[in-house]
Amino acid sequence: MSDLGLTPETTEGPYYKKGSPQRADLLYDGVHGEKLSLSGRVFDRHGKQIVGAWLDFWQADGHGRYDNEGFLLRGHQFSDESGGYALQTVIPGSYPGRTPHIHVKVRPSGGRAEITTQLFFPGLPSNQTDTIFRTDLLIDISTAADGESGTFDFVVDIP
Ligand code: FE
Repeated sequence: MSDLGLTPETTEGPYYKKGSPQRADLLYDGVHGEKLSLSGRVFDRHGKQIVGAWLDFWQADGHGRYDNEGFLLRGHQFSDESGGYALQTVIPGSYPGRTPHIHVKVRPSGGRAEITTQLFFPGLPSNQTDTIFRTDLLIDISTAADGESGTFDFVVDIP
């Protein structure tokens, strides 16, 4: 079996906060933004599912605002026995200089190499003017009855 391409890394940006709560559902009353259900799996470069990988997500709300005082729209989870993860959130808005994106750190269990990256949304004109944007970090989006549904699989190196 040929090796999978590793998920590219990007800059962390200025808004990461350590210590996010463990939760897969980031929705809260009054949150701005269209609902997004994001899921996928974590693989190593040989296509083996990685169980118990730590995934830490953080993002802006639909107005492009981060919660820098608390932990709204921030949360971590661990991949399940199939390497799977699932996140309930909203589609982030843009903010000056940035096309909409979701930040994430992924670390295989056992404290091995951690990656920091960002996921993007297809079809947005603002993608063209964002220097961090990459087409290989696009979420595969489909529209569901109750919002958007997206998938993205991570491939991380295990030294
Ligand atoms: Fe950001």
